[in-house]
Amino acid sequence: MNNPITLNRLLPWTWRRYIVAVALIAVAASLRVWPLQSLGSTLVWLTFYPAVMVIAIYGGLSAGLLGTGLACLIAIFGGPILVHQPFINKPADWLGLMVFVMTGTMISSVAEAMRRANVRARLEQKKAEAANQAKSIFLASMSHELRTPLNAILGFSSLLRNEAGFSDEQRKTLDIINRSGMHLLNLINDVLDISKVEAGQYQVENSVFDLGGMVREVTDLMRLRAEEKHLQLRLDQASKFPRFIRADAGKLRQVLINLVGNAVKFTGQGSVTLRLNARLTQDPHRPILIIEVEDTGIGIAAEDQVRIFDPFVQVGEQATQKGTGLGLAITRKIVELMGGQINIESTLGRGSIFHLEVPVERAEETELIIAKINLGQVIGLAPGQPEYRLLIVEDQLENWLLLKHILEPVGFQVRVAENGAEGVKEFQAWQPHLIWMDMRMPVMDGLEATQRIRALPGGREVKIMALTASTFKEERDKVISAGLDDFIAKPYRADEIFDCLVRHLGLVLVYAETPQASRLKPASLLRPEDLAPLSAALRQELTGALLQLDGSQIDASIRRISEQNPALGSLLASHAGQLGYTAILQALQPLAEETP
Ligand code: ADP
Repeated sequence: MNNPITLNRLLPWTWRRYIVAVALIAVAASLRVWPLQSLGSTLVWLTFYPAVMVIAIYGGLSAGLLGTGLACLIAIFGGPILVHQPFINKPADWLGLMVFVMTGTMISSVAEAMRRANVRARLEQKKAEAANQAKSIFLASMSHELRTPLNAILGFSSLLRNEAGFSDEQRKTLDIINRSGMHLLNLINDVLDISKVEAGQYQVENSVFDLGGMVREVTDLMRLRAEEKHLQLRLDQASKFPRFIRADAGKLRQVLINLVGNAVKFTGQGSVTLRLNARLTQDPHRPILIIEVEDTGIGIAAEDQVRIFDPFVQVGEQATQKGTGLGLAITRKIVELMGGQINIESTLGRGSIFHLEVPVERAEETELIIAKINLGQVIGLAPGQPEYRLLIVEDQLENWLLLKHILEPVGFQVRVAENGAEGVKEFQAWQPHLIWMDMRMPVMDGLEATQRIRALPGGREVKIMALTASTFKEERDKVISAGLDDFIAKPYRADEIFDCLVRHLGLVLVYAETPQASRLKPASLLRPEDLAPLSAALRQELTGALLQLDGSQIDASIRRISEQNPALGSLLASHAGQLGYTAILQALQPLAEETP
């Protein structure tokens, strides 16, 4: 590549500063001829002081001294030429010259010190940027190295769990492997998150979402843990908040899970209460969302209340508990990134209240991109569809084996290429409908292979999905801008793989009922039959209140139901008290759907 010819290259700075010094002194001298000719030989140094100052700031000590020297020579010898009379006449004029020399030297020295400090600061900054860059690269590759084996652990243990022929004992073991893998993944995510925060790479990504749904999801998620410890997990009945908002859903969910999770973890008996509210601001579309998580747990000593928001800090006797001490550090960063704040009120032995406020934007339901409902395990392709050819380009045996295990039983034709170059060859020979492309591979990486395939006949039409273990937004953006259609982050779940196929190939899959869905329906939970006696009006009212997560409305509905059917009322009240909103909604649904 040709570098453009610039002044910097033609004339090194050492020479440029001296030329500037000479030029500025010449200008200062010529000002005495015009427009200052009326001054004659008085005020000799008037124009030379500012000139020396500018020279010293631009060129440092040596240029400043050169400027001072030149100005003195002009004052001693140049008078008769410039103003037709000498500048230095009386002994006092020599004194003026000495003062000028001293001041010029001082100005030049100070300017030089400033210049050096500046250069040092710039160097330090460059070094810090380079270190930061190195850290990001290290993190990206660590993330890749750790997620790739985890992908196999989580993927295969989930696949095996769904397979017939295992004893209960073996299934429990598989669950332990899967749970431990998930725990490890959470730890890796936490460490990565905190490093991203420190590297300034943590960004807010706003979208419209159903806050009510999120609260339900989080409380559903935590209910089991709370039940195991005989704790009551409650949503404060007075909670009122906008249901649809625009904010960073993923990060807000992380904050809620973190705070409620901690509250359950550090509470031995009593309850954990989640309270949501909204405070209006001048702009009615931008309220402040207030979230409080209150527990009756062990509490935090006053001197520890500031420290717990620092990374890796765990306090009190529970310091040996499972955890990294990163949750609250990340939580605070997220809240600050969203423009909010978090604080804590706590009494040792009595419990804690974590209180956070974040500005959000109100949104309409119509703006919501409906999240895909988890339809359950895929058991096959719907009949009457073409034979789809899917190519996996992936070098790691365990990873391509996993993907093959996910895809083949459903009825896809699958071939594997173990590096980018082989992938390109296989594409030409087999013309697949879709390619799963790993990004890091020996011989030829995923980006280059994609570019080559795109340049071949048929290469524009084929769908190429990146498989990346990176969680860095930049890397994902790079993948998309390099011509890949989409990406899946490792470790992925089978349903993410199928979602991707449905989205890009428009194929139709056949689903079995989810094990989770069937697990939610045993007799210990609510069954649709339990709610059969409900009138259509009460059914509708309760459904509305549950969807709005309106505590007082839910209470009122249940009271009305109790008046007609006390047994059903108390059953519903016990579920609502435990925040089993999803269970009630599910039990309501089959009949609710029949009503027009
Ligand atoms: P971790 O939960 O992984 O230890 P966190 O950053 O989430 O890390 O919490 C840091 C520490 O703050 C915890 O180890 C615990 O000592 C204290 N802590 C957090 N939440 C609570 C709570 N609700 N009650 C009592 N102590 C808490």
